[in-house]
Amino acid sequence: MFSKYRKLNEEDSIKYIKEKMDVFGKDERLISREIGDGNINYIFQINSQDSNFSVVIKQADKKLRSSGRDLDTDRIRIEAEALNIEGELSKGMVPKIYLYDREMRCIIMEDLSKYQIMRKALVERKIIKNFSENISDFLLNTMLPTTDLVNTPMEKKKMVKKFINPELCDISERLVFTDPYRDIEENTFQKMNKNFVEGKLYKDEKLHLEVAKLKIQFMTNAQALIHGDLHTGSIFVKDDKIKIIDSEFAFYGPMGYDVGNIVANLFFAEIRNLVLNEKSNQFDKWITETIKNTVDLFKIKFINYLENNTKEKIAITNKFFDWYLDEVLGYTAGAAGLEMIRRIVGEAKVEDIESIKDSELKGNAERIGIKIAKELIMNRNKIKTGKNYLDIADEMIMEELNDGKIR
Ligand code: ADP
Ligand code: MG
Repeated sequence: MFSKYRKLNEEDSIKYIKEKMDVFGKDERLISREIGDGNINYIFQINSQDSNFSVVIKQADKKLRSSGRDLDTDRIRIEAEALNIEGELSKGMVPKIYLYDREMRCIIMEDLSKYQIMRKALVERKIIKNFSENISDFLLNTMLPTTDLVNTPMEKKKMVKKFINPELCDISERLVFTDPYRDIEENTFQKMNKNFVEGKLYKDEKLHLEVAKLKIQFMTNAQALIHGDLHTGSIFVKDDKIKIIDSEFAFYGPMGYDVGNIVANLFFAEIRNLVLNEKSNQFDKWITETIKNTVDLFKIKFINYLENNTKEKIAITNKFFDWYLDEVLGYTAGAAGLEMIRRIVGEAKVEDIESIKDSELKGNAERIGIKIAKELIMNRNKIKTGKNYLDIADEMIMEELNDGKIR
């Protein structure tokens, strides 16, 4: 029945799963719910009423869930292949894949609904134990083995080919690297920040130059297989465990892009907590330490991993590793800044900031975020440690303290 593509609905998804897999008995009573909250794909959660087992089906339709615009369905192949690689390299930090169905453009995978989306946990000010340890492991273990230093250069080039992802890269190139810097209708923010955004983002040519450099590197530096959309909405958490989902943006790009995305999204949780005037609580302490430790652990593990695993034979000295890491760190700071700006003014917002009800406080949050972001982009080649990030944030927060409603 499902040998040719058709778009699933809840009812069909039950017939589909029974046809494709034998994890549920023929007469088992199943319930399907479409639970997608993104704007791209459809997610069906299938629960058995007769056993505890459940699965999730992700289907990529050729039309976007939100706007109905066309989007290449090759993204579901990329997601399935990336999840397989990430799962193997990270030893299980992604959902188990039960089946990838090319015809139906579906991935049938482990149901993670016992986990919570990290962004929601952060909005609830939950402390996620060992997060910096775990995410730095994920980043290192999934990215470094795919680089030219660790994979054989020939195999690596074949992999680059597999992960050419034009349409999804185009989305990032537009939403992250272009639109937030132009005065266009799609950009939205608090009215009080109109002049601020114009001056700081639309008219700053020095900033545009640096954004253009970062954009070209994004487009041309096939450094490693990266996730490409690694924000806190793509991370499930439970106690001290994390699972990474939604790898459809994966391609060979600069490693710092993923690391910077993590840092930026941690900053959103910090800024939210700060403007809601709960600065001196445990959560603030944890989130700032987590920002710092994520960068510092990434650095230590990065060098360590390369010292033990590099296959490249020329110039393999610590000086070379330091040079290589330095470039990644610079891109990390730049990407963190880009992500913060695009989430504050651009089309795809984040709940951390969106859920601040008071418009003056939200305006404060926007300005703090944009100020930190610009520092990160403009000074990225000097930002080398976790402490550097915290110092910049402290300075920008101080600047804002006098002007706004925050205390
Ligand atoms: P999209 O690519 O459309 O953004 P995501 O992969 O981000 O889709 O998934 C959207 C939502 O569906 C997630 O935020 C999560 O709530 C839910 N979801 C996705 N995958 C799973 C899973 N394996 N288990 C449980 N829920 C999931
Ligand atoms: Mg997605």
